[in-house]
Formats: sequence, structure tokens, C-alpha cells
Amino acid sequence: MSNKLDAKKIEHFKEMLEAEKAMLAVELPKIALWNAEINEWEAQPAEAVTESDENDLADRSEEYEERTGKVRSLGKKFTDITVALEKIENDTYGVCELSGEAIEVERLEANPAARTCMAHMNSK
Ligand SMILES: [Zn+2]
Repeated sequence: MSNKLDAKKIEHFKEMLEAEKAMLAVELPKIALWNAEINEWEAQPAEAVTESDENDLADRSEEYEERTGKVRSLGKKFTDITVALEKIENDTYGVCELSGEAIEVERLEANPAARTCMAHMNSK
């Protein structure tokens, strides 16, 4: 592969990935629980409320929906980072999962956990 990443570049991306993973490892447990059975983060359920408090209930369900969306996007990022770090260990980092082409360095700079090249960025 012509533009194979050199070790220094990979080390740079690894540092970015580890920093972001450390940040997510602090943020995610505040709003989500790790489900080891499916290997995914799940939004923590809203706390139980009394039936009489309907406004509060609506607030909480909205809050829960918002939280679910946030958990989904942060959780996906967490998974992608974990996968990227595994690829670095296996020496397969920086390769598009769909085409097998090298992922553009600019794309990795913007998102070191990218799993696809620019041509396939919306396909995965
Ligand atoms: Zn591709």
C-alpha cells in the first residue's frame, strides 16, 4: 500500500484514541450502564416517579430520550475507538473496512477512529 502509515503517525493516532477513550470512560458511566452480554452501553433508566406527578414524568421521559440518543452516539464512538486500538495492536489500522484501501490521513486526523475511507464514510 502506497500511503501506509508510519509508526510515528500511528503512535500519534493511538494517543488521540486513548485520550478520547479515557474521556468517554468517564462520561459514559454517568449516563449509561455497560451491558457485557451485548457489548454495548445502555442508557440508564429514568428514576421511578410517582404517578401523580405527570409533568415531572413527561420531563423525565424527554430527558431519557435525550440521554438514549447521547448514549447511542457516545457508545458508538467508544466501540469505534476500541476497534481502532485493536487494529493498531494487530497492525491493521488505517484500512477501510469496506474497500480495503488505505484511509486518508486527513480523515484519520479528523477522526482517528474512522473505519472507512472518505468514499465510504456514509456507508458504515
Ligand atoms: Zn473504502
